[in-house]
Amino acid sequence: MQLNSTKPFSYETTPANGLVAYFSMEIAINRGMPTYSGGLGMLAGDTLRSAADLGVPLVAFSLVHRKGYFQQHLNQSGDQTEEMQPWNPAEFCTEETARIRVSVEGRDVTVRAWRYDLEGRYGHIVPIYLLDTDLDGNSGWDRGLTDHLYGGDTNYRLQQEIVLGLGGARMANALGLTVNVYHMNEGHAALLTLALLESEMGGGPLNSPTEADLLQVRNKCVFTTHTPVPAGHDRFSTEQAIRILGGERTARLEKLGVFENGLLNMTLLALRFSRYANGVAMQHGKVSRAMFPQYQIDSITNGVHAPTWVSEPVQQMLDVQIPSWRRDNLNLRNAIDLPEQEILKAHRRAKEGLLTEVATRTGLVLNPNVLTLGFARRAATYKRASLMFTDPERLLKIANQAGGLQILYAGKAHPADEPGKALIHNVIETASKLSNDMLRIVYLENYAWDLGALLTAGVDVWVNTPRRPYEASGTSGMKAALNGVPSLSILDGWWIEGCIEGVTGWAIEDGANDAEEAESLYLKLENAVVPLYRSEPEKWARIMRTTLAFNGSYFNTNRMVKQYTRNSYYPHKLIEQVKVEDPAYAN
Ligand SMILES: *Cc1c(COP(=O)(O)O)cnc(C)c1O
Repeated sequence: MQLNSTKPFSYETTPANGLVAYFSMEIAINRGMPTYSGGLGMLAGDTLRSAADLGVPLVAFSLVHRKGYFQQHLNQSGDQTEEMQPWNPAEFCTEETARIRVSVEGRDVTVRAWRYDLEGRYGHIVPIYLLDTDLDGNSGWDRGLTDHLYGGDTNYRLQQEIVLGLGGARMANALGLTVNVYHMNEGHAALLTLALLESEMGGGPLNSPTEADLLQVRNKCVFTTHTPVPAGHDRFSTEQAIRILGGERTARLEKLGVFENGLLNMTLLALRFSRYANGVAMQHGKVSRAMFPQYQIDSITNGVHAPTWVSEPVQQMLDVQIPSWRRDNLNLRNAIDLPEQEILKAHRRAKEGLLTEVATRTGLVLNPNVLTLGFARRAATYKRASLMFTDPERLLKIANQAGGLQILYAGKAHPADEPGKALIHNVIETASKLSNDMLRIVYLENYAWDLGALLTAGVDVWVNTPRRPYEASGTSGMKAALNGVPSLSILDGWWIEGCIEGVTGWAIEDGANDAEEAESLYLKLENAVVPLYRSEPEKWARIMRTTLAFNGSYFNTNRMVKQYTRNSYYPHKLIEQVKVEDPAYAN
């Protein structure tokens, strides 16, 4: 296998402690700002929160998304409708005076930036620049380019990617930032490499870069891929590229070999120009290397920002029991010694908090003594939200065996995802048919930051049933783990690394089809989860404790950002050694 480049990355060209510019199409920055849709944006936000806590010299670029993603409404029969979420950047951010321009479909579009200062635990600030085209002088269409996160069609998307990638890189210059490392979080920002190449060429014609020019760009860029299947990668037709990006740039991209079957592939572009690339879990790195065998792709497993996701009652307990846990999340390993009663008490309070919210929203009063399962995530069909309903009779029996069972669902379907919407409809319909005194199933509207935090902390078991290998990582189970909540999940993404059977949760065994995996799900509920929860509270408390100790101490962004700084941003000689010795690279 060959290296991404002709020459290995040289440490001297990227000094340790140089400034990192992090690019992401979505970032969950603040609970009041609808600038994210789901896992990718949450991960970006948690990454920046940990970078701020750890004092990493980092700035971030995204789009302002003036109309947000969408607020979800569900009617009685489970039909989703969407409402825009307009917000005012001036309430949260400071407007920068710098202006830059990008060319979109041959038009010059002016871009400004709103700065949000994200402050870490010890006062270190990570500035986040939200790019905005809503300016006088831009056409009506262009003023809306930074309005809708994942809105519109692929033309709109490519236009947004020009603003994010080309615009962001130029804005960094205009702001006077000297950037040493450009981190592309997913392929949406890959066009920043063109801006760097153009600036390397000093305005010269794009058709004649030397190997040295290409290497200069490559030495500045790193990339994280989040997509486990070919269909998930961001792609555009040649016709779109010529029309929107222009003929010269498209010709350059074709020469770079980043078209595949006539489509401009943003993952390929990012890989082509990155000195370091990674997937988001060990398994996802493997899957990515198989998809792009010509590139070196490492793994850095995702995490979540611990203080953001640990519930108030568990925080209070940890502040007494392990006071240093905030400063260094690794110290959560000491949760192995927590008194059983303390963890049960803290979780009980988190559960009551969740059930109070459920009652406020739905009028339904659930019982804090009853085993409660949580399932919340984007309503994409591969997540198989209705797997638990494969055999309704069996589920009812389990509810009786458990002395009652409560299942809380939540999740949005992308407005254009009809199968996803049908899935929500199906879950809600089945829930209303099945629900009785023993089994209560509730679908909560508008899954977002606050509800996610309440659910992951307040349920007793976090359930995840993706179809393998579609879950690159998943992070909601990590939020649960940081609250001592074990998972019952398919062995995909992070759970392959996180599952110790009966210690941090339970694995749903791999099956040949949905029915076999549903069978395993039922068996684990019947034989492991229900008997333990019902009759052995002390053993249950010990599982909560080991979940927090083993998985809370590892699956956090504090550890993850340290890995990024050492393996991706400022690798020194380490990377080259690892590449030679690590058998994982043998595919
Ligand atoms: C954590 C989170 C996600 C991502 O969870 P997955 O496990 O990757 O599905 C999505 N949406 C919200 C609101 C979250 O808090």
